[in-house]
Amino acid sequence: HAKKNRNEYQSYKPEMNHEAYDRLRLESDLRQGLEQEQFTLAYQPLVNLCTGSIVGVEALVRWQHPQRGLLPPGEFIPLTEDNGLILPLGEWVLRAACQQNKAWQDAGLPPMMMSVNLSMRQFRQHRLAERIESILEQTGMPPQYLELEITESMTSDSDIASGILSELKAIGVQISIDDFGTGYSSLGNLKKFPVDKLKIDRSFVTDMTKDGSDAAMITTITSLARHLNLKVTAEGVETDEQIRLLREGNCEEAQGFYFSKPIPANMFESWYRHRSQT
Ligand code: C2E
Ligand code: CA
Ligand code: CA
Ligand code: CA
Repeated sequence: HAKKNRNEYQSYKPEMNHEAYDRLRLESDLRQGLEQEQFTLAYQPLVNLCTGSIVGVEALVRWQHPQRGLLPPGEFIPLTEDNGLILPLGEWVLRAACQQNKAWQDAGLPPMMMSVNLSMRQFRQHRLAERIESILEQTGMPPQYLELEITESMTSDSDIASGILSELKAIGVQISIDDFGTGYSSLGNLKKFPVDKLKIDRSFVTDMTKDGSDAAMITTITSLARHLNLKVTAEGVETDEQIRLLREGNCEEAQGFYFSKPIPANMFESWYRHRSQT
């Protein structure tokens, strides 16, 4: 038995070293990436299902790594959450997203919401509301067009979350709960939190055409949202059939590859202009 363990240990060890090395390497690359502004934002539209009009965009961060190419957030966000670099990165994302939305408004695009994801560490950051308020002032972005996306897990300590959310609401921004349905929000908390929107997690949308219980989940969340006077967006919509079922379930907004993948700012702008002409 002991021998087997030793063998497992020996065969596992080089990989551990490799992983630890990769992590260190990535961490120093991240610091450099922040200094050299190697990050970019991709934008994905949120569409009103009744009118077909674009009501907003979600900003999703990417890293243009000098050797490894364009990296999706899943490959670096978790590390930045562990080592604290999410704070400067998150601040960069907020500023860049606000600047972009302001630039689009100035260029004559119809005003739309700009959604930005917050991580747990950012959400708990000292004076978050003040920091965001000064970014809004510096960029000239009207607060009512900024939507901050948090996850259910951030609301697990409901007293702390209530306090932070009230401060954020006081500066005039919108709040949505991302990946809704995958966490453990208590409905009681949901009622007392000053949030504006629920975003139904992609997993329910993906399986709604195959699995009746997922379709029921969507209808349930939608009617819950209506009772609590919250908006609702379905995430990860890819097919006509999903759109049809979402409309049937009275879901007002959707986001997903069906409309557009997340794309760079200039592509989004021409896509949007072209779309509003036709
Ligand atoms: P999320 O906030 O749930 O964002 C939606 C993710 O689903 C995006 O992945 C998007 O590309 C993908 N997606 C959208 N529509 C579809 C669809 O129809 N089908 C499929 N299969 N996927 C779809 P992405 O860009 O890789 O982002 C992954 C996650 O990384 C995000 O999940 C979010 O939690 C996090 N993230 C992205 N940007 C930021 C950021 O600036 N700050 C923080 N803290 N987290 C971020
Ligand atoms: Ca999100
Ligand atoms: Ca989501
Ligand atoms: Ca997600």
